[in-house]
Amino acid sequence: MIFLVLIVFYTFVPIIHKTKKMIFELPILNFEKNALEPHISAQTIEFHYGKILRAHLTNLNGLIDGLKIVTADLASIIKEYPDTNGVLFRSAAQVWNHSFYFEQLSPTSKAKAMPEGNLLLAINESFGSFEEFKILFEKAAISLFGSGWAWLSQKKDGNLVITQETNAGNPMRMNCKPLITCDVWEHSYFLDYQCRRVDYIANFWNVFDWSVIEKRFELL
Ligand code: MN
Repeated sequence: MIFLVLIVFYTFVPIIHKTKKMIFELPILNFEKNALEPHISAQTIEFHYGKILRAHLTNLNGLIDGLKIVTADLASIIKEYPDTNGVLFRSAAQVWNHSFYFEQLSPTSKAKAMPEGNLLLAINESFGSFEEFKILFEKAAISLFGSGWAWLSQKKDGNLVITQETNAGNPMRMNCKPLITCDVWEHSYFLDYQCRRVDYIANFWNVFDWSVIEKRFELL
């Protein structure tokens, strides 16, 4: 009898699970909205997290509901969706990218200012030094033409690489594993810095928590 129950359970539970409607939720911020001031204002967080990310999320959930996608996760959509201009790709990637971006931020008093251990070794190995990495990453973020994201990721061969992705781009599409992203869409800094992206990037490090990146690196 117990075997019969188990067979029924393991046969039907995955089906029930797979047909459950997939709804993505707004990630919880690790900080108060005004905690990143003066580097990133409460007004920017309210707008960027509360309006822009929420709008992408609402859009994504609506599309997924409409398309009857029940088994996909965000990373699969980002990696496999054929068209990076497609609205499903854009919504999925913008939700993933923004969640990844906000997760790295922390008030200056709590943020870890320097990487250590294996992450620092990998950075030194790939870029020569931490200082050189920062110069190259800032250069990528500043020089990206138009809207997009600067990334640090790990390639298949284990080396770290800095890339620029326009619009909703994500290095997972090139089989890289993301470690850091910096949103350089104008909406992420315009309220605080107007068109001075250089100042936004310089101040970004003041609220950037390397302990988050160390954890990501250990999980790769
Ligand atoms: Mn953004």
